[in-house]
Amino acid sequence: MSYQHILDGKTLDLPVGKVVCVGRNYAEHAKELNNPVPTSPILFIKPSTAVVRLEGGFEIPQNQFECHHELEMSILIGKPLKNADVETAKAAILGYGIGLDLTLRDLQNKLKEKSHPWEVAKAFDGACPLTAFVAAEKISDPERADIALSVNGNARQQGNTSDMITPVFALIAFMSRHFTLLPGDVIMTGTPAGVAALRAGDQVQVTLGSVLSCTATVA
Ligand code: ZN
Repeated sequence: MSYQHILDGKTLDLPVGKVVCVGRNYAEHAKELNNPVPTSPILFIKPSTAVVRLEGGFEIPQNQFECHHELEMSILIGKPLKNADVETAKAAILGYGIGLDLTLRDLQNKLKEKSHPWEVAKAFDGACPLTAFVAAEKISDPERADIALSVNGNARQQGNTSDMITPVFALIAFMSRHFTLLPGDVIMTGTPAGVAALRAGDQVQVTLGSVLSCTATVA
């Protein structure tokens, strides 16, 4: 089944674009991986071929590398943005959801040691499972939203978007200075602490405040 964006239960006639992501946007997560807290956002991109549906289930790569979950608030872009200011960025948001920035952690660490790009550890097919989106107006304050992930009933990651180093709207504005954002593109806003490996058969539950809850089996 091919992926298409869904907003409030309706399939959208929008292309599935690139996914623009930020690394180390929560200080506690930077610390747990022994990374310095950055002074400006560290951006990277996952291609549209990384995007799959989270609901129900998703696959992790069958290779020798550990595949970590990174729970993140996801944002669906509805208008083109280039060099946008914060207000323009806010007005371009169609919806919010939850995404997993799946990461082949030990492969990423090997690449970092050699000062190589981490592309293959983050941008592989299926590396970005996304829930359906909830319309932007239903999230009262996206810069104060609770996000949570549990695996097999055990809480693994809990965060609040107010803990982001670069807050949501400023982050999108910053991204648009480097990459033109187009309708159908997705923003991933960074992960709180608690990243860990997934295994086949795990039952994953993700929530965004009280407006979105979704379960999936890892295949
Ligand atoms: Zn991430």
